[in-house]
Order: sequence, then structure tokens, then C-alpha cells
Amino acid sequence: MDVEMKQSRFKRICVFCGSSPGKKSSYKDAAIELGKELVSRNIDLVYGGGSIGLMGLISQAVFDGGRHVIGVIPKTLMPREITGETVGEVKAVADMHQRKAEMARHSDAFIALPGGYGTLEELLEVITWAQLGIHDKPARRLGGNGF
Ligand code: AMP
Repeated sequence: MDVEMKQSRFKRICVFCGSSPGKKSSYKDAAIELGKELVSRNIDLVYGGGSIGLMGLISQAVFDGGRHVIGVIPKTLMPREITGETVGEVKAVADMHQRKAEMARHSDAFIALPGGYGTLEELLEVITWAQLGIHDKPARRLGGNGF
């Protein structure tokens, strides 16, 4: 597929995903593949800002591909979800509500990769916001049924 055809109508996509790698290696593969796919379509990443689990894998893949990465994370969660270095831009927020609002504000669409309760909660929140007409951005699950 040539570059012209692969150009997406989305500039930035928010990816919700697990803060752990999960039990199946296919989850890790899905995170890396999606990261590369975003890069190939010139799409930037918005995510939860962690360096651990699937969050770490996808953010690294998008960053390594030269796209912009915005991680949105409450200050109180940083010691738990950031180990070592994070890639891209880190936006510190006050709490979980602000995190979701900021992630949604910066994104044109949402994708949920496998994850735990946190991923599920984030996906359901943006789906219910769409139902209520708060936004009209698409939200989809990808890469399995969760951990
Ligand atoms: P998990 O899928 O449980 O590994 O969590 C994935 C991400 O969702 C982690 O970065 C969690 O901090 C985050 N998370 C968990 N609960 C919430 C919530 N209520 N609002 C926003 N993010 C959350």
C-alpha cells in the first residue's frame, strides 16, 4: 500500500492498554504491531504515560518510529507506573478523571488493547461519553479479549 493510501484521517489516537504485559505473548505482539501501524500511518500516540507492560511497549514502538507520544499520568501514579525512562511528552495531571479527560481531548479516536480493569474502565468511559454525545470519536477493541 503506498503512503498516500495509508494516510489516516486520524492524527492522534489514544490507546488504552494493560500496565502489565499479560500472560500471552500475543498481547505484547499486538502492542508492538499497533505501534508500528500508527507510525506507518503517520499517527501520533496518546496513552496513559506508563513505561511498564503493554503501555511501555507501544509507547516505545511509536517513539522509535519517530512519531509524537503524549503520556497522560497522575503525579501520584508515577512511582507505580513509570520505571526508568519514559518516552515522549509526559503530561502530569491531578487525578484519574483529569487523565481520561486529557487523553480524550488530545485524541481523534480510541483503541483498547488487552488489559485489566483499568483498560476496561477507560474504554467504557469513552464509549459512554459517545453515547451521551460528549464526543463523536470512534472507540474500538483490538487484539484479544483482555487478560
Ligand atoms: P490495567 O488495565 O488495570 O493494567 O490498567 C491500565 C491503565 O489504566 C493503568 O495506567 C491504570 O492506572 C489506568 N487506570 C485504572 N483505573 C483507572 C481509572 N479509573 N481512570 C483512568 N485510568 C485508570
